[in-house]
Amino acid sequence: MYANRLGCLPSYLFAKLDQLKSEKIKQGIDVIDLGIGDPDQPTPEHIIRSLCDAVKDSSTHRYPSYEGMISFRESVAQWYADKFGVILDPENQVLTLIGSKEGIAHVPLAFVDTGDVTLVPDPAYPVYRMGTLMAGGTPHIMPLLAENGFLPDLDLISRDIVRSAKMIFINYPNNPTSAIADKKFFKKVVDFACDNGLIVCHDNAYSEMTYDGYKAPSFLETKGAMEVGIEFHSLSKTYNMTGWRLGFAVGNSDVLAGLGKIKTNIDSGVFRAVQIAGISALKGPQDCITRMRATYQERRDVLIAGLENMGISVKPPKATFYVWSPVPSGFNSMEFSSLLLDKAGVVVTPGIGFGEHGEGYIRFGLTTSIEKIKDAVERMSNLEI
Ligand SMILES: *Cc1c(COP(=O)(O)O)cnc(C)c1O
Repeated sequence: MYANRLGCLPSYLFAKLDQLKSEKIKQGIDVIDLGIGDPDQPTPEHIIRSLCDAVKDSSTHRYPSYEGMISFRESVAQWYADKFGVILDPENQVLTLIGSKEGIAHVPLAFVDTGDVTLVPDPAYPVYRMGTLMAGGTPHIMPLLAENGFLPDLDLISRDIVRSAKMIFINYPNNPTSAIADKKFFKKVVDFACDNGLIVCHDNAYSEMTYDGYKAPSFLETKGAMEVGIEFHSLSKTYNMTGWRLGFAVGNSDVLAGLGKIKTNIDSGVFRAVQIAGISALKGPQDCITRMRATYQERRDVLIAGLENMGISVKPPKATFYVWSPVPSGFNSMEFSSLLLDKAGVVVTPGIGFGEHGEGYIRFGLTTSIEKIKDAVERMSNLEI
């Protein structure tokens, strides 16, 4: 009944943990979920007000334009100029997306033919790999290892693979490792893409979620980046808008035109009222971001201190709302996640769920109240490990 391409998708790794979690909840255990990456705080009030006003204007009710409202794309360009000093032409260097996941999943359809290779990190957000498989391409894994600061080693990719590769996906600040990249790494990626005719897709969903004074760059700040690639961005994490489905891609106009052509044949754009609320987010007061950073940083520090007490040493991440922690010796990531759930009622994500090189790690999400994180730390400290 199902198409072959469904067979390419891996079986659902978290089924066992999900089942254990439902059992615990049924037993009346107060499970603390540190497994998800979805902001717990509400969307800021001024953005909600903007949506409410926009939705009452019936001109927003009709089909939106495919590429997004020009006023939304202009706000994106202004936001990029202010944050990163990157100058974008809103006409052809900005494309509105129904969340960045949508664009990431669709972009290989425009550039990858059967047999073409894409270079994808491992561990990683699974969509880079899935999008490639859906397009009939072959993902080639670039291991992200602790000894390289979780940056891929481009020199290790064989000549043959590089020759058949069309695209490379990167993501810094990184989910799940919370690693960051410096401009030197981005320059290396630009040169590599230039030399080998690759399209670079950089996922910058976490650029605003930074701590200790760190400021994450845009890939497009790198000289030559605009010639080889695009950057995906999202309002989801920055403005607590995951449910609203609003993101965008910026950068090389030919690459965006390819993605846009796919999209005109699949979807019909983002509800105009949501784009108008998005303009309020991008142009409005940005102190919500400052508060968000302080909130996550405090949670991060509580969790890191708790792990330290358990004998697990993790460097405080400079970005993202994840803590990527090694598992104690004697466990693999699935076993340790099961133990935390079974004995402490704490849900975490086993690293293996992000790819084979995620083995040996678990990912804690910081999108839960400080009280619950303190409670989780307390419960975990009572474990015999
Ligand atoms: C959350 C996330 C996204 C994006 O989400 P959307 O809600 O679809 O914009 C993209 N990339 C990574 C790595 C993420 O963690």
